[in-house]
Amino acid sequence: MRGGAVTGANFDLTGRVALVTGASRGIGRALAEGLAAHGADILAVGRDEVTLDPVCEAVAAQGRTAIPLAADVSDIAAIDELFKRIQSLGMSPDILVNNAGIEEVCPSAEVMPDLWDRIVDTNLKGAFFVAQGFARPLLAAGRGGSIVNLGSLTSAVGVPTAAPYTASKSGLMGMTRALSSEWAGAGIRVNALGPGYFRTELTEVFYRDEDWQKAMLGKIPMRRFGRLEDLVGATVFLASDAAAYVTGQILYVDGGYLASI
Ligand code: NDP
Repeated sequence: MRGGAVTGANFDLTGRVALVTGASRGIGRALAEGLAAHGADILAVGRDEVTLDPVCEAVAAQGRTAIPLAADVSDIAAIDELFKRIQSLGMSPDILVNNAGIEEVCPSAEVMPDLWDRIVDTNLKGAFFVAQGFARPLLAAGRGGSIVNLGSLTSAVGVPTAAPYTASKSGLMGMTRALSSEWAGAGIRVNALGPGYFRTELTEVFYRDEDWQKAMLGKIPMRRFGRLEDLVGATVFLASDAAAYVTGQILYVDGGYLASI
């Protein structure tokens, strides 16, 4: 074997600070708690600070610091304010989980420009400017970091009534690759997580339909929907030094769905 000694992968996030958008519930909350369980302190972002209390309490119960920060990521001025606030707190995040996202199903013939803008401004434009705000101080200081963008299966599979959402998530995948090659030399890794089917507020509308559930379970090789904890290991891996040479990748966590179609 060539190169340095093999000492084993390091998944420990002690001393790291993770900025998690959309941390008030669902996947973002689970990832914030999972990163904290591996040692990270958490800056938790949602539109309303009060909704962040439960995740901050859960992180604090693990002995880590958690700070709630209200910001609407579809609003560029709010993103600027968010990073000023983080700077004024003397915090310097080195992990970003770009998770905030929305979906509103709508037949494409009926999609209006304001629906398109709402979804793309949150899921894609917001994610870019949060990544920019996160990376600027790291680039200026010559410090590395890790970005995990929340992609989706929909960027690889055509889902009816989800064109704006699919466009936003496909754009996010392209953005992941572009940023990864631009910032690799600066030590900032940029990857994406591609969750399959997870029951949250965002997807609840589908799960109310038992026929949909049955049909979908028939297509997922593992014959079950994802559990939020299924996403933690992949995120901790991408955020940590265990993935030190991994950038520009999309890691699907989907019970085998994509591989089977
Ligand atoms: P939820 O609806 O449960 O949670 C969405 C989170 O995003 C909430 O914390 C919400 O916070 C936050 N959010 C929404 N809009 C904004 C905004 N403008 N500014 C700041 N925060 C915002 O969704 P999920 O947990 O299911 O989804 C999380 C991510 O995972 C999304 O990007 C989604 O596209 C992606 N995903 C989910 C899948 C699934 O099966 N659930 C599958 C594939 C991808 P609040 O409303 O409190 O402000």
